[in-house]
Amino acid sequence: MLRSAIKHCRECGSGVVYRVPDDGDTRQRAVCPSCHTIHYENPLNVVGTVPYWGDKVLLCKRNIEPRFGKWTLPAGFMELNETTAEGAARETVEEAGAQFEMQGLFTMLSVARVGQVHLFFRARLTSDQFDPGTETIEARLFAEDEIPWDELAFRTTKETLDRYFADRRTGVFSVHTIDIA
Ligand SMILES: [Zn+2]
Repeated sequence: MLRSAIKHCRECGSGVVYRVPDDGDTRQRAVCPSCHTIHYENPLNVVGTVPYWGDKVLLCKRNIEPRFGKWTLPAGFMELNETTAEGAARETVEEAGAQFEMQGLFTMLSVARVGQVHLFFRARLTSDQFDPGTETIEARLFAEDEIPWDELAFRTTKETLDRYFADRRTGVFSVHTIDIA
């Protein structure tokens, strides 16, 4: 999802204009013509998990737009005052109602086009019973040959699952840095 442009100044409410500030900056910013506040826009973090149970991975069927009805790993925007792992765990509880133990970072994906960085951690499920929240139609486990590859919601989910099953075959999980064009 592309972010929409800033329209109003956060400090005084005046309409902003996009221009290169006069302070040596080289990028266009939303600048307030009244109080001269410069609004910097930077990438957002999306944090999630690869919850696994034996040779299966937990996916959630989305009950929300975008990509309603498509399958995804549990993930969402990081909140203020939480760590990346805390955010990933929170999203996994909210979207799947899963019980699990957090493990290490697995993928870091730059999605430059939309200004996002996605971080997925492995999470060892401690139960195969789920209690999905309102954002999820269904949460269920998939073996590699059951993954609905054509019904995945996001490239970041597909890339992360690809790496997960490849690493699983070798028995060694490393951290993967991936750029999505
Ligand atoms: Zn202003």
